[in-house]
Amino acid sequence: MTDVVTMDKIVSLCRRRGFVFPSSEIYGGLGSSYDYGHYGVLLKENVKARWLEAMVRDREDIVALDSSIILHPRVWEASGHVSSFSDPLVDCRTCKLRFRADHLAESQCGKRPSKRPGETPECDLTPARQFNLMFETRVGAVEETGTDVYLRPETAQGIFINFKNVAQLARRKPPFGIAQIGKSFRNEITPGNFIFRTLEFEMMEMEYFVPPGEAEQWYRYWIDERRGWYLRFGLRESHLRVRPHEADELSHYSSGTSDIEYLYPIGWSELEGIANRGDFDLSAHSEASGTKLEWVDGVTNERYVPHVIEPAAGVNRSMLAFLCDAYDEEEVAGRERTVLRLHPQIAPVKAAVLPLIGKDSGMVERARSLFEELRRVALVEYDDSGQIGRRYRRQDEIGTPFAFTIDEQTIEDDTVTIRDRDSLAQERISIGRAKEHLLERLSANWRSPKPE
Ligand code: ATP
Repeated sequence: MTDVVTMDKIVSLCRRRGFVFPSSEIYGGLGSSYDYGHYGVLLKENVKARWLEAMVRDREDIVALDSSIILHPRVWEASGHVSSFSDPLVDCRTCKLRFRADHLAESQCGKRPSKRPGETPECDLTPARQFNLMFETRVGAVEETGTDVYLRPETAQGIFINFKNVAQLARRKPPFGIAQIGKSFRNEITPGNFIFRTLEFEMMEMEYFVPPGEAEQWYRYWIDERRGWYLRFGLRESHLRVRPHEADELSHYSSGTSDIEYLYPIGWSELEGIANRGDFDLSAHSEASGTKLEWVDGVTNERYVPHVIEPAAGVNRSMLAFLCDAYDEEEVAGRERTVLRLHPQIAPVKAAVLPLIGKDSGMVERARSLFEELRRVALVEYDDSGQIGRRYRRQDEIGTPFAFTIDEQTIEDDTVTIRDRDSLAQERISIGRAKEHLLERLSANWRSPKPE
């Protein structure tokens, strides 16, 4: 069975329900930039929260960090980004468009009907030139005396340059990790695919420092661990794969990288990269800064430069994968229903509280009081406007896993129905148990009912 999801449907649902809007829209929009509305923010925050739990709360060997976006410019010289963080670009002298030399097969030229760049006799492509992806800006009040700096293109370097601070204070010995979530910026020229590739985006990166002899073993460990995380939060196994990089794809720092790829509607594409960075970063910063970034064992006095395994994921790309995997359409009682089958722990809203008749003061009173009770423990919504069917459909489209409905019977015997978004099953439970019931359902294991 083919998946009904397309990128257009995701873009349109995100807009219709206020997850994601094109940025600067009233000024005509800015390419590859998006703003996140209420449900988009909640969904994105859930992705980050689940990552932080898995990385920091549930483990004893990883600590958190929040480093600056603007770092000393020498950081980016030492890291190799000034010289090597670039994409090969070609320009077409005819249609004046610019393409990534390594993405020509997936690009379209300016001729109508559009062809691959270089495919028509009129295409006139320049040789590939390297184009650095870092955004530059200046620090200082006076233009002439200011310092050129960069907006970080990854959060990892902020972790490496704090290695000494953290290693001393965190009282942990390798293997241990430092995790960080934050915004990164890249001057990407390949247009969009919605939030898959944008100028600014959030990253979830963890640098895991290990004894050199253990690097390969931890590299494998983190590939499995990170793949497992996506499966745990509902992505279908058939839509996830691990792809090791070919030697000519490896970044300047890497001795081994594997991408976790997701089968987006645009095809298999990178969701997260796991790299074995060796001792490249700590050694480069030690040499450039004069501060030794090494591990010294307080008991044995053994010293070495740890090797680093890095799982680096994009928050926005993960969110897009969760949305694509969740999107579903089905016919129920002769009507089309669009539903986001999101894992309950990823879904922006956990439950809706709905009085069956919005004008019935008895139902409204019970519903408001249940809502007040539930909102203390989970993100819930109250809605009493319009027909009940329309209210359910709205919650289905934003992926709310449960809905409590207050009806005539509630007034008589203090019971409510709980409706399951996926199966549409309705169960009647005592209103006094609603909170406990919701918390149990939210923490239960969940698998996508969509076919693999
Ligand atoms: P790509 O090859 O797609 O440009 P990359 O290999 O340069 O990605 P990394 O440097 O490994 O990406 O970054 C780690 C993660 O950050 C990626 O797996 C992706 O999820 C996310 N990411 C990178 N660039 C962008 C971007 N421009 N917009 C959104 N997310 C991004």
